[in-house]
Amino acid sequence: MLNIDLHCHSVVSDGLLTPARLVEHAALRGVKVLALTDHDDVAGLTEARIAAREKNIILINGVEISVTWQGRTLHIIGLGIDPEYPPLEQGLASIREGRVERARNIAAHLDRCGIHGSFEGAYAYAGDGRLIGRTHFARFLVEKGYAKDVRSVFKKYLVKGKPGYTPHQWATLKDAVNWIRGSSGQAVIAHPARYQLGKNVLEALLHEFRDLGGTGLEIISPSHTSDQTKLFAHHAERLNLLASCGSDYHGPGESYFDLGQLPPLPAGCTPIWHDWNIEQN
Ligand code: AMP
Ligand code: MN
Ligand code: MN
Ligand code: MN
Repeated sequence: MLNIDLHCHSVVSDGLLTPARLVEHAALRGVKVLALTDHDDVAGLTEARIAAREKNIILINGVEISVTWQGRTLHIIGLGIDPEYPPLEQGLASIREGRVERARNIAAHLDRCGIHGSFEGAYAYAGDGRLIGRTHFARFLVEKGYAKDVRSVFKKYLVKGKPGYTPHQWATLKDAVNWIRGSSGQAVIAHPARYQLGKNVLEALLHEFRDLGGTGLEIISPSHTSDQTKLFAHHAERLNLLASCGSDYHGPGESYFDLGQLPPLPAGCTPIWHDWNIEQN
């Protein structure tokens, strides 16, 4: 069976490895098909592609787009996208601009509870700073001793109801799916169990997503329990959505799953790669 991992992050967003190191790590873990899916940015794909060629890995162009749908943040993955498709490029650029503004808001909130200098601090963790996000704040807060690790700093400071959380308007679901489809990619709802949607809201999302032209659900994800995996496999089968799998790897020490160490898709799922031209490679 091919080792396929369709969700991970490099330093271009909030991962810890450069795209080339990430691909090398994937190769060490036996991955044959890898999608790099940085948040709201495709800038790592060129470097990843060069490294993938060397390591004999098939690289799938990916992205993980931040979306606001009915007041909630969702992540929509694009697989097989054309990173140069202008509406996609422009859409992602506008999300990134919004991130800088949000980071200033987060820093202002943290200031009010006595944590100073977090904008600059987080920025220093954000590479060239274009894609600043909560993970960079988390790393800064850990550095300053506010919590022992990134996971606990999120719980204490960066999730809804905590001092460093600020609401933010991301892209619409419709725009995100259109950018992905328009660039000949496939849209996949990332880690669907994480949004904790009630039955009716989930049903509304799945139908709207499918009506917009979305094709996939991420079934295997470190965010899912095995019961949630089964449940979403059932939804995918019922609604004719394709199944994806990804480690959501962010780097050593910050991830539940290592690259390529994923359980298989449950029986009955149609893999999103069923019609990709990858088997003979
Ligand atoms: P952002 O897009 O800036 O809101 O950041 C979202 C990212 O933060 C996710 O992709 C994860 O990498 C990370 N993240 C979100 N929630 C948590 C959590 N509870 N623990 C650790 N990391 C988290
Ligand atoms: Mn992330
Ligand atoms: Mn995500
Ligand atoms: Mn992710």
